[in-house]
Amino acid sequence: MFQTAYDSLLTLFYPQICEICENSLEKSENGIACEGCWQETRIFSPKENLCVKCGRFLYSSRPERTANCHQCLEHSYENARATGIYEKALAASIIHLKREPYICRRLGRLLEEASENPLFEDLSVIIPIPLSKKRLLARGFNQAELLAEIVSKHLQVQIDTRSLIRSKHAKVHRAGMDRRGRELSVKRSFEVKRVNKIKGKNILLIDDVLTSGATVSSCASVLKKSGAENVYVLTAARAA
Ligand SMILES: [Zn+2]
Ligand SMILES: [Zn+2]
Repeated sequence: MFQTAYDSLLTLFYPQICEICENSLEKSENGIACEGCWQETRIFSPKENLCVKCGRFLYSSRPERTANCHQCLEHSYENARATGIYEKALAASIIHLKREPYICRRLGRLLEEASENPLFEDLSVIIPIPLSKKRLLARGFNQAELLAEIVSKHLQVQIDTRSLIRSKHAKVHRAGMDRRGRELSVKRSFEVKRVNKIKGKNILLIDDVLTSGATVSSCASVLKKSGAENVYVLTAARAA
């Protein structure tokens, strides 16, 4: 009730509009998107027809328990899951998160629910995908770390931001590269600093968006080379 009163006071004094459709924002828990835009965003339900490995949304009408998109076969992680499709309210919230260290309650809750997926078994540690030092300095915070803190608190699993680092700022123009070139340039940029903290562990990697999966896969690959037992991935959203 206090929240409702607070919300109406907020709109009275700070009339805010949805960053997507410019309707007025009714609830602070929805962040920078209105209720309507959140309703239109595709959020995955537990019954969704997803690729068992990478979590890609499969458009086939017949749900199968062993469906695979066949594009993630070489990826080094066990499973990747996201709260929903990178569109509308999810996309706007993630873009906003790169500018401001703020995660609205609605996104936080979606992440908490997605983290309860039974695929993520016996987790020992949660690791956010690191930024390069240069980018971290420019932005002031790592958005993946903020997301990871929510999951860590919810699952009561410790967070480790020191064992996996991004070794250098990728200077190469990745847009002009083919897929293999892109994957190699990503692969070279992650490094495990403290092998003893990784060996034998079940790790949950957290990032904001999963696009091709190349970034999380190369993280999983270096973690496994350092003896990680299983590597899972959870992202706030994924490309359709
Ligand atoms: Zn809207
Ligand atoms: Zn897949």
